[in-house]
Amino acid sequence: MRVVVIGAGFAGLRAASRLQAAGADVELIEGGHRPGGRVRTVRDPFVGGQYSESGAEWVDDYHHRLLDLLDRYGVRTLGAGEQWTVIRRWLHHGGRLLDPQAVLSADPGIEHQFAAFDAIIDSVTADLVDSAAPHLHPDAAAIDARSLADVAAEVQLGELAGIFKRRDAQGEFAAEPSQVSLLFVAQQRAHQRDAAGDRTISAFRVDGGFSRVAEGMATELGGIVRYGEMLTELEQDADGVVVHTDQRTLAADHVVLACSLVPLRSVEFRTPMPPALHAAVHGLGYGTVTKTSVQWERREWPAGYATTEGRAQRVYEPTADQSGDTGILMSYCGGAGGHEWARMTEAERIELAAGEMRSMHSLTAGQLGGYSRAWSTEARYGGSYAVYEPGQVTAHWDVLRQPWGRVHLAGEHVADCCGYMEGALESGETAASRIIAAG
Ligand SMILES: Cc1cc2nc3c(=O)[nH]c(=O)nc-3n(C[C@H](O)[C@H](O)[C@H](O)COP(=O)(O)OP(=O)(O)OC[C@H]3O[C@@H](n4cnc5c(N)ncnc54)[C@H](O)[C@@H]3O)c2cc1C
Repeated sequence: MRVVVIGAGFAGLRAASRLQAAGADVELIEGGHRPGGRVRTVRDPFVGGQYSESGAEWVDDYHHRLLDLLDRYGVRTLGAGEQWTVIRRWLHHGGRLLDPQAVLSADPGIEHQFAAFDAIIDSVTADLVDSAAPHLHPDAAAIDARSLADVAAEVQLGELAGIFKRRDAQGEFAAEPSQVSLLFVAQQRAHQRDAAGDRTISAFRVDGGFSRVAEGMATELGGIVRYGEMLTELEQDADGVVVHTDQRTLAADHVVLACSLVPLRSVEFRTPMPPALHAAVHGLGYGTVTKTSVQWERREWPAGYATTEGRAQRVYEPTADQSGDTGILMSYCGGAGGHEWARMTEAERIELAAGEMRSMHSLTAGQLGGYSRAWSTEARYGGSYAVYEPGQVTAHWDVLRQPWGRVHLAGEHVADCCGYMEGALESGETAASRIIAAG
């Protein structure tokens, strides 16, 4: 059986590996010149051997597929683990850096507001019996029509709680609260509940960066990966698939499209997609993360995440567990802010982020190298990760997860663990299993 896999991100690498192990004749075609896709560790602009992740940065302690790969390639997790509490550590507000106690003093009702917000999500989650099928929730259409902005309005968040909850949406879903379906949020919570139970989750960075995992997977595949070649056209019939790239034409029994949906929007599908699939491929929402890293001569900031009402959105130290006197601060921007940053040049973004970091932490240290990446402007990605917008779980969830004849979609956007490296691996396994079962 001959299978062509498009995209050497975690989804494509995993699908290719499973298919190869099952004896299929596999070719993996990647438009870029390295494996990993949205996993990309950056070292070049920084001194002292330090690095930061321009894409995926954390593995959660219940992401077993990814944890197994870390073991396989001898990649250690770092530090004691981060818990995603709403008030992570600092709030930069009114020109001051407030600690959690100061936040509570400024708004004594804030925890009550967070609890009311969470209670609405929890009640939807509790009714989601199968986290893999949120579209089957008994009240799916009505819940899917609501957004996180509707939840915020219902519980009447105050100013500070509103800042935190907006930054949460911009960080976790990379979108504005009005662009995130309540049913999608509940699906994500239900998936975590089903995979990890109700315990508190810890997240970890890894030693040397996640690119090491992608490189390990690609090396194991041997010579079947072709870099610098783009899928441009595709056709299929009952007997097989014909894949056209910018360099050649290949025939196969199946194809796995393991790239985000945005680049697929410019592929010519000579066999027309069914209308519901076409609508899903062209309509699914994508978040807009722009990450900007700036290295400083000395670490003059207090430990822990800072949420800011400024344009930097969230500022934290990716080098917290790396040695050396120097340190890197990262600004993580999503939603409308992610788009706004994406319209600037890289140099402008670094200057803006450095200025906000300097003023937030009263830095006197000299600025060293910097790096910024706006995922929404990169043609092979078109965004950071999928976000199901209001109405999109009921419209697109199921159709994106069904094979279309001999064409199989893979990637984080079709996973239960949507938006994560773990989800990309999960989706690659699902596609490979279906193809192996089809024979
Ligand atoms: C800023 C950011 C932060 C993140 N943080 C985390 C995190 O902390 N933890 C976590 O688990 N996940 C995180 N993620 C998500 C994670 O990176 C993704 O879910 C995962 O890497 C997606 O893998 P994939 O294989 O689905 O897609 P991709 O990694 O996008 O791989 C698809 C590949 O297809 C290639 N391609 C595209 N079009 C074509 C074409 N026409 N022809 C040939 N090749 C093509 C691309 O070049 C790419 O290499 C983050 C993502 C971003 C952007």
